[in-house]
Amino acid sequence: METVIEPTTARKPRFASAWLGGCSGCHMSFLDIDEWIIDLANMVDIVYSPVVDIKNFPEDVDVALVEGAVANEDNLEVLLQIRKNSKLLIAFGDCAVTGNVTAMRNPLGTATDILKSVYVDSTDMQQQIPSRQHILPVLMEKVRPLHEVVKVDAYLHGCPPSAADIRKALEQVLAGTPELIKESKAKFG
Ligand code: SF4
Repeated sequence: METVIEPTTARKPRFASAWLGGCSGCHMSFLDIDEWIIDLANMVDIVYSPVVDIKNFPEDVDVALVEGAVANEDNLEVLLQIRKNSKLLIAFGDCAVTGNVTAMRNPLGTATDILKSVYVDSTDMQQQIPSRQHILPVLMEKVRPLHEVVKVDAYLHGCPPSAADIRKALEQVLAGTPELIKESKAKFG
């Protein structure tokens, strides 16, 4: 772990969480921190998250929790924005860490193989792969965990990580000791 968020910074740390190719279960677990989310909101500025209505990832983010794997081109674009603008990027949950459930399609072939099998080879009518430019995000041929695409600073395992582990990890980040995140229990979906 190279990046440490200084707890004595004059401004509040800027906190983000993002949802890429995942089921949102990691963010549901995040909400299970219950009333501690009020304490968290007092300690940080939540500048981007599914729990706030901000469309574009902002600049100068101190810590970003990123749920889900890279499954389509939208995920890729958002992840590159997150990496470019975040000091500490945490792979949040097993889909982000390993691909996990989101990557279960990988052994079946490429996205093109699977789409062709479902929409062309297995149908008798209107055999065509669905494609609506700027409406349907284009699938990556293979789903990738975050660290295969960008540098990841820390990993928070679990499917989903427990609320207790999420709180512990964030407390450590805010205290400037994020290396302890590695003690989170690994649990694979
Ligand atoms: Fe959902 Fe589990 Fe993946 Fe989190 S790690 S997005 S809970 S499948």
